Amino acid sequence: MSATRVGTRAVSFRWHGRGGYGAKTAAILLAEAIIDTGGYAQAAPEFGPERRGAPVQAFTRIADHRIAQRGPVTAPDVIAVLDPGLLDAPGTMDGVTTDAILFVNAPENARATIAARVPCRLVLIDASSAARSALGRDLPNVPMLAAVVGYLDLLPQDEFVGWLEKRLGKEFRPEVVAGNLAAATTVLAALAGQPNPTPLRTTDGTAAPPRRQGREGLRWQDAAAGPYMPGGTSRQFETGDWRQQRPRLDLSTCVHCMLCWLYCPDSSIIAKDGRIAEIDLTYCKGCGICAEVCPPRAHSIVMVPEAS
Ligand code: SF4
Ligand code: SF4
Repeated sequence: MSATRVGTRAVSFRWHGRGGYGAKTAAILLAEAIIDTGGYAQAAPEFGPERRGAPVQAFTRIADHRIAQRGPVTAPDVIAVLDPGLLDAPGTMDGVTTDAILFVNAPENARATIAARVPCRLVLIDASSAARSALGRDLPNVPMLAAVVGYLDLLPQDEFVGWLEKRLGKEFRPEVVAGNLAAATTVLAALAGQPNPTPLRTTDGTAAPPRRQGREGLRWQDAAAGPYMPGGTSRQFETGDWRQQRPRLDLSTCVHCMLCWLYCPDSSIIAKDGRIAEIDLTYCKGCGICAEVCPPRAHSIVMVPEAS
């Protein structure tokens, strides 16, 4: 068992992603990997409004002994942020101290900008690029999981990749397994280039990080009232700024079947006189449903990186 997992208390992880990014899956896969290799772990998601693209959190605790604690992780040792746009979202930095290690799905050239906004050690992993190259879509959860496991030395890399292949093979098609393994391998190789690789070590009670000033211990009587929103205000909440990828519409091949209009959860597909006219990006959060439902013979919507 890795020294990282030997300690008097569990190591806690908090995953921040958006619906559809697989943060919950990453949290659960980490727990399964630890349990399958002889450790103890637990994992659970916490959802707000369960919409594709909406911010979600998930939690993992791992240890070399039974874990008595339950509930959300409010004072994380490790935070994995699958969408850098969430760094400033409410709750992402809750309970984070300088002892924590923060993994962010972002390219190395974003380091200075991100480092200025966070209080703790930072590891940047371009998981989206790895996923796009290997899978053809922005699904950063498995490469982020690989980065966390590899950087923190939770399992030997070969053992983890072997476990991952077996585990994903139970659920997914061979090409999906191969794509995820390729993305995981890419980020594991890139870890060697990370500056200041300082693995988390909680080898005994005294080395464990001190208890945090998080929400742990907060009684319901201490909580402020709310939050609540007046009715009819959702228009002011422009979900377009959540977007990491955008739909690109080619009207020359569109057969106006209206499936994208029907399935878009944000009414962003604009139709006029029974025909698709355009996509209004004001509220489009880049969930990709329109591209998925567009018939292959038309292939009129493709998702492209937001920056392109
Ligand atoms: S336009 Fe497409 S990508 Fe944008 S919210 Fe609607 S279904 Fe999702
Ligand atoms: S799903 Fe595709 S083909 Fe159908 S209306 Fe939308 S863009 Fe056109």
